[in-house]
Amino acid sequence: MDIAIMGAGLSGLACAITLEKNGIYPTIFEKRSKVGDRFVNGEILLSIFAFPVHDCIASLSEEYEIYLKPTSSIQRLELYSKNEKAFIEGHLGFTNIRGREHDSYESQLGRQLKTSIHFNSEETYEQLLSNYSHVVMATGDGSYAKETKNFREDLTVSIKGATIEGSFDRYSVMAWIDYDLAPYGYCFLIPYSKTEANISIAVPDLEGNYALDMTKLWDSFYQMVRSQLKQAIPITDQFHITKYPIGICNSARVGNTFYTGNCFGTMMPFMGFGQYAAILSGIYTAYDLCGLGSYEELMKPFRASYEDSLVLRRAMEQLSNEGLDRIIRSLQGYWGHKLFHTKRINPLKVASYLLRPYIHMKGAASK
Ligand SMILES: Cc1cc2nc3c(=O)[nH]c(=O)nc-3n(C[C@H](O)[C@H](O)[C@H](O)COP(=O)(O)OP(=O)(O)OC[C@H]3O[C@@H](n4cnc5c(N)ncnc54)[C@H](O)[C@@H]3O)c2cc1C
Repeated sequence: MDIAIMGAGLSGLACAITLEKNGIYPTIFEKRSKVGDRFVNGEILLSIFAFPVHDCIASLSEEYEIYLKPTSSIQRLELYSKNEKAFIEGHLGFTNIRGREHDSYESQLGRQLKTSIHFNSEETYEQLLSNYSHVVMATGDGSYAKETKNFREDLTVSIKGATIEGSFDRYSVMAWIDYDLAPYGYCFLIPYSKTEANISIAVPDLEGNYALDMTKLWDSFYQMVRSQLKQAIPITDQFHITKYPIGICNSARVGNTFYTGNCFGTMMPFMGFGQYAAILSGIYTAYDLCGLGSYEELMKPFRASYEDSLVLRRAMEQLSNEGLDRIIRSLQGYWGHKLFHTKRINPLKVASYLLRPYIHMKGAASK
């Protein structure tokens, strides 16, 4: 069995590490010049989206021998709508760094790998298919899956972000769900340290958003953060992504091609989370290749989560700032705490079940 992995990001590396642990050494191709050679940004792993797992980092090390050091734990989540706020406290998850930093998650995974990576690769899927018995597509988006007609694209998102300097509480993450700032989208402030943080704004490319000027939205978001924090927060680095596709494959495995990570559809349409699922999809791809399970079967819970998350996304698109204010107000206090700390029910599933009858589901598979 000759295995080629296309893409040395979270899912491709998790797949390769797991294969190695089982005595299989794949050939890895990465189009960039080193692991994580891309913009730097802050990301989060929230336990609420990993149900029934309460601690993703502990679970990855205990169950899969994948070791990740987050930047910090999250002990406080500040949610802001236009006129309301909710502060949720407790152990809510982790922050981490991505991209060209020594301790980014992809750099950490890269150091756990024995196999060397072919960088600056220009190999095409067709070339890999003809030279290897099995191909793992872990390229970080659905474009290859789309070309092979195996991908249902549900939306695209434009994202702008920056690294800022200032004074931050590294245990707190701030999120704004205010349609004046980001119509039908969201904004985040994720600290990397006491003195550096990432701010970002994500806006879905809906018909009603086509005329939006991302630069203007960004400027008003940046000014708002400056005034809310009462700090100058100079920008030291920036990135801008347009039309990032979010969707899901019809089949996780087609013949001997495995669609892994975002290439499968591990990025959740609701708020764009996907790191944990991407890593697990890499591990599960390796399990299938080692004869330890069926990738298609193992990905079924992620497929269900994707569809639940899509219901929430469509619900978000039908809300106004008044509706968001009501939701955020209801999260302040007992119910917010309960929701973020529940160990018995999957909040994403329950919300999706309750909302499904009221939502017009363009493009989604009906269940
Ligand atoms: C701006 C942004 C913010 C996000 N924030 C969060 C967050 O806070 N929390 C969360 O859980 N998730 C978040 N996500 C989602 C998360 O980052 C992804 O779900 C995750 O990185 C997907 O892993 P992956 O392995 O599929 O892709 P990646 O980790 O992106 O890796 C793909 C790799 O494939 C390589 N590649 C691409 N094409 C080729 C090719 N043709 N040949 C060889 N190599 C190729 C790329 O260079 C890259 O190294 C965010 C995503 C974005 C874009």
